[in-house]
Amino acid sequence: METLHGIPVSPGVAIGKALVLRSEDFFTIPKTEIKGEEIPKEIVRFEESLTKTRSELYAVRKKIAQDLGHEHSDIFSAHLLILEDRTLIEDVLSRIKEDRVSAPYAFSLVIQRYFHAFAQINDEYLKERVSDIKDVGKRVLQNLRGEQKDPLTNLEEEVIVIGHDLSPSETAMMDRDHVIAFATDIGGPTSHTAIMARSMEIPAVVGLDRVSKAVSSGDLLIIDGNRGVAIINPDTLTVDRFTREEKRFVELITELDKLKFLAAETLDGHKLQLMANIEFPDEIPSVIAHGAEGIGLYRTEYFYMNRSDLPSEEEQFKAYRHVAEQLAPKPVVIRTLDLGGDKFLSSLDLPREMNPFMGWRAIRFCLTRVDIFKTQLRAILRASIFGDLKLMYPMVSNLSELKQANQILEEVRGEMRRENAPFDEKMEVGAMIEIPSAALTSDILAREADFFSIGTNDLIQYSLAVDRVNEKIAYLYEPTHPAILKLIHYTITNGKKAKIWVSVCGEMGGDPAMALLLLGLGIDQLSMSSFALPKVKKTIRSVTLKQAKAIAARALEFDTGEEIKRFAETKLKSVLPELFEG
Ligand code: PEP
Ligand code: MG
Repeated sequence: METLHGIPVSPGVAIGKALVLRSEDFFTIPKTEIKGEEIPKEIVRFEESLTKTRSELYAVRKKIAQDLGHEHSDIFSAHLLILEDRTLIEDVLSRIKEDRVSAPYAFSLVIQRYFHAFAQINDEYLKERVSDIKDVGKRVLQNLRGEQKDPLTNLEEEVIVIGHDLSPSETAMMDRDHVIAFATDIGGPTSHTAIMARSMEIPAVVGLDRVSKAVSSGDLLIIDGNRGVAIINPDTLTVDRFTREEKRFVELITELDKLKFLAAETLDGHKLQLMANIEFPDEIPSVIAHGAEGIGLYRTEYFYMNRSDLPSEEEQFKAYRHVAEQLAPKPVVIRTLDLGGDKFLSSLDLPREMNPFMGWRAIRFCLTRVDIFKTQLRAILRASIFGDLKLMYPMVSNLSELKQANQILEEVRGEMRRENAPFDEKMEVGAMIEIPSAALTSDILAREADFFSIGTNDLIQYSLAVDRVNEKIAYLYEPTHPAILKLIHYTITNGKKAKIWVSVCGEMGGDPAMALLLLGLGIDQLSMSSFALPKVKKTIRSVTLKQAKAIAARALEFDTGEEIKRFAETKLKSVLPELFEG
């Protein structure tokens, strides 16, 4: 038995047999020399494999568009473009002609040179393209060698798929009745593959480093997508433990999902709005399935990532309109471009900074690059008539920034009025409160905002001077630090005085014990990852507002974050013991 740790990207527990996909040496082809008269035959062979691959990709794209929607099928348009790459094609042809080698060997050399070149570039977008090139490369090579494709379709038994990396096309073609989980050596939570796992709602763990080497097809595996763990050939006791855990997870989800149509209402009738955070429109089905009352944070910067150009107004409009329509009449809060920190855009060649989290980013960037900002604002305004859209600015640090942003928004509105372009004149516009200076001047900022959304992820990092992505100081990252509770309390109080609503859209809101505190502090709305919603709803429905207020008031009196955390968790346990079972 061996346990590997990675990044959990899709929750749940699965126990089953491994199916290990082809290893990395797929592209290692033995060198086959050819005679001069064989050159034309090898060229035809290569061209035919390109044609065949092209028609396969068109078919895959069509199927995926029908089954999963255009967001998923677009990747195959990118794959088709790779097949049109003249330099790649010419390279292969000249190797066949000049080096007199077989088409598969020539192609394998050229495609491997592409992977290495892309993998070495210090650019996340281009690095991610390696998996697309590999995906296309595999197809071409299989066609050149006449091999059988898509081992993941038409499976006869349930399997857990293991790969060094899983390409989007492999993931999309998976036989959903038989693939019960997957795990990979590399990858991050926002890769196309991870996103598909979430929409397929199967457990998945990525970044396991060497799972594809440690596992053989047929091995028994446990994949724990809640904790990010893969257990290879577990003993009977471990299998029993995880079988119980899997059962409990399914029961808990089924039980909690029953709350889907119920309000997030306390025992004494106080209602809280529970919303979902999304990065991509394809998360909408999960948002709806988990009973969100709307989207409280749409992180639009993901739209600008993983591409070499900036999204046009039209493209953005279509995406925002789609989200607005899918959720209507429920509200959707669109956050304007929050670039920077750990989120970089490949399309903008911005200089590296010493302190990227505190640098030229988010609203600061948008107020300078007004062209980019206005394009997004126009797209949002145009989409606003298709649902209940709201807009908010990230990283506001003072009144002047908020006023400038509103001024630019007003200019865009003026332009649209002159063009008779329709938009929602009453669309609410809010400010994120995620910098201590904004929290401490929230009484002033409230004059210029229709609502506040407290971004606790950043508020904690900036208040406590703890880099949110540095694991070495993670122990200092305390949502319950008295300073954080005071800043949140102060912001909520100022929101109430100004009669504007206040939300928390940071990760803190998705933790039931923290939700209890936030409820007691008077928050109006919590927005979180959709799968956290049922647990938080259950928490809200298990207490009275009076109880929660007393808990929050007592919490504000403690000296340390540790005491507050322990206190909140003890209180949660007393109102909702089921959450702690197991
Ligand atoms: C936050 O900072 O809490 C927030 C919600 O925004 P992000 O995590 O995208 O910085
Ligand atoms: Mg933030």
